[in-house]
Amino acid sequence: MSEDETLFERIIAGEIPADVVYQDDTTFAFRDIRPQARVHVLVVPRKRYRNVAELAAADPRLLGDVVATARKVAELEGILESGYRLVFNTDRDAGQTVFHVHAHVLGGEPLGLFGA
Ligand code: IMP
Repeated sequence: MSEDETLFERIIAGEIPADVVYQDDTTFAFRDIRPQARVHVLVVPRKRYRNVAELAAADPRLLGDVVATARKVAELEGILESGYRLVFNTDRDAGQTVFHVHAHVLGGEPLGLFGA
């Protein structure tokens, strides 16, 4: 297992420092170290799946928890009304670099057209 594959597990375990925004029994949310927007938070399930496709196939309820936590993060960050973007980069062509499924919660400013 590469370091990237264990990075988020180590963050959840408190072995690597992170700016934690929210956590509960099944999910964990922390600020991205290289923010791409004024608000950029990563939401991960505590249980590791490689990507959102594997998570959706194996445990759709847990995927629902991730999406609900993203909403909670938006609420805590004060961007529920202005809006936010959820991104799950999934494997090579999407540029996924950490193979523990994570939702990027992006907002706090106009984000422009996606993929333009
Ligand atoms: P991906 O490209 O969708 O896999 O996104 C991985 C994200 O993890 C990138 O946006 C990185 O900036 C972020 N990241 C990498 N290492 C850390 C860290 O130690 N703390 C917080 N975010 C990280």
